[in-house]
Amino acid sequence: MTHKAGFVNIIGSPNVGKSTLMNQLVGERISIITSKAQTTRHRIMGIVNTADYQIVYSDTPGLVNSAYALHDSMMKFVQTALQDADILLLVIEVGEKKLNHLETLDKIVASDVPILIALNKIDKSDEVIVKEQMEFWKEKILRAEIFPISALHGFNVDSLFNRLIELLPKGEPFYDKEDLTDKPLRFFVSEIIREKIFIHYKKEIPYSSEVEIESFKDLGHIIHINANIMVERPSQKGIIIGHQGKGLKRVGTEARKDMEIFLNKKVFLQMHVKVDKDWRSKKTRLKHYGYNS
Ligand code: GDP
Ligand code: MG
Repeated sequence: MTHKAGFVNIIGSPNVGKSTLMNQLVGERISIITSKAQTTRHRIMGIVNTADYQIVYSDTPGLVNSAYALHDSMMKFVQTALQDADILLLVIEVGEKKLNHLETLDKIVASDVPILIALNKIDKSDEVIVKEQMEFWKEKILRAEIFPISALHGFNVDSLFNRLIELLPKGEPFYDKEDLTDKPLRFFVSEIIREKIFIHYKKEIPYSSEVEIESFKDLGHIIHINANIMVERPSQKGIIIGHQGKGLKRVGTEARKDMEIFLNKKVFLQMHVKVDKDWRSKKTRLKHYGYNS
């Protein structure tokens, strides 16, 4: 068999299950998942290798209408994903009848790459509604092939996957076949901390927080990690730390446990909370945190 290789870019509105689906497809927990919108801020790649093919998945931030500079940068990741896709995988949640970012829908319709729609969360719905939704989206994007799935329960993900393999172009691998992802370990370490912040804090806190890994030292038997949680205002610093430091401690303990599983090694985690005033609105700060695509 000739070798196949290509980019499968996953796009869709916030919270529809893009990261859950990517993790199902890749079979490793490499993209963080929470129940809140806009958890995924960067484009994250997941690579699946066999002797016959290499699929490079990209999980992207949800489509949003821009409200501040961070959104602009997030949408840039999405635009790049639209441009370099060999196959577009649009995730739609049952019940969803429009995309936030209409410009993106226009671009999808105008492009000539194959498009698969994963109609997700059908476990929450019934047959009549699912059928009606399939017809609705078929009409919007004529050349789309629609797969009703449940990413969470792994239902029908197989048939979607098989179709992806069929559509994958012939070609040599883009990345070393040993690699799982293009991101360094420290990126996943920071994502694990960010996930805990999303789980334990409300309102603006998760969105105002960024995690910076100051140092990552593998000492053989243990990994020493020094991380900063950056917030936008002094009041948020207090909220993260919490009464008698309990908030920060909980984040630290849970993150460390997940890191030890992910890195398969003992971890010593040190964390500090720092204020980087209004970082989300400053171009230079966004660049510093890696948001320039
Ligand atoms: P993203 O923002 O599109 O990346 O969405 P996530 O993958 O982070 O998922 C958002 C939420 O939807 C999480 O709480 C998931 O557990 C949930 N979810 C994802 N797929 C399904 C599904 O097939 N069924 C149900 N009921 N929930 C799902
Ligand atoms: Mg996500």
